[in-house]
Amino acid sequence: MPLGASLLAVSKGQHPRSIRKLSEYGQLDFGESRLQEALPKKNELKDLNQLRWHFVGKLQKNKVRGVVKEFDFIHSVDSLRLMERISRISQEEQKTPKIFLQVKLRDDPQKGGFLKQDLLKSWPNILSLKNIHLIGLMTIPPIALNLSQRKDLFCECRSLADHLELKHCSMGMSNDWEEALEGGATWIRLGSLLFGQRKL
Ligand SMILES: *Cc1c(COP(=O)(O)O)cnc(C)c1O
Repeated sequence: MPLGASLLAVSKGQHPRSIRKLSEYGQLDFGESRLQEALPKKNELKDLNQLRWHFVGKLQKNKVRGVVKEFDFIHSVDSLRLMERISRISQEEQKTPKIFLQVKLRDDPQKGGFLKQDLLKSWPNILSLKNIHLIGLMTIPPIALNLSQRKDLFCECRSLADHLELKHCSMGMSNDWEEALEGGATWIRLGSLLFGQRKL
């Protein structure tokens, strides 16, 4: 069993004042899924320079530079081409983002992610990229899965991360975080459970 997990507060759709409030209780890690939404919020909170920003949304290639400049962690790198672009731009910007590779362990037309075979095949390439700090895998279960099926999927993600010698698994949201912890998550990503309904 893991010794503990970190909490990512997913603040998409929430007012900056809610982020500030939570930070007063000691929460420092916040997740956003859109660059355009994150920029004004970060600006409004720039006095809180200890906050760490995590990008959790689908990353479009034209947003890579902005995300590399503004975020410390990226949870949603879903292809080798995107990873190569992040590496190139990170070198130009002299950044080394912490990266989770998003994996798709079940068929799911609504979600992106590396298939396991593709990830294993691309692995030597991925390891050779510069200005990337690869820390783990991220996964999102298809909505149709029940809790016990989700737990199985989380355990598979943990095994794959262990096989690749990656420490972190970013998995589990408001409705399945307990199964994710049982499955070996080191980061759980909670939005509505922490903040209530999204407002923006
Ligand atoms: C929105 C979002 C979350 C948080 O979802 P909740 O169900 O509100 O906890 C977590 N991860 C990702 C990738 C998200 O987009």
